[in-house]
Amino acid sequence: MTDGQAETMFAGIRWVETSGKAICPHCACPSCYEARRPDGALRFRCKGCRKDFSLTSDTLFAFHKMPLRRYLAAIAILATK
Ligand SMILES: [Zn+2]
Repeated sequence: MTDGQAETMFAGIRWVETSGKAICPHCACPSCYEARRPDGALRFRCKGCRKDFSLTSDTLFAFHKMPLRRYLAAIAILATK
């Protein structure tokens, strides 16, 4: 799995109501666009409140520094229990 595939899959899990389209965790605005950092980290910017957030902002994964693929593996394990 590539990082891009992991990002798409994680977005689909997090924003299941919008089929993976980002929703701002600050103001719940659905008008967000990708603003990828120069180092490759995926960030989104909200058009409503102009704040940045990441795929893991406001999730239980936000305080960990693990690759997304690890999270997906953990989710897959939890989902089969
Ligand atoms: Zn916002």
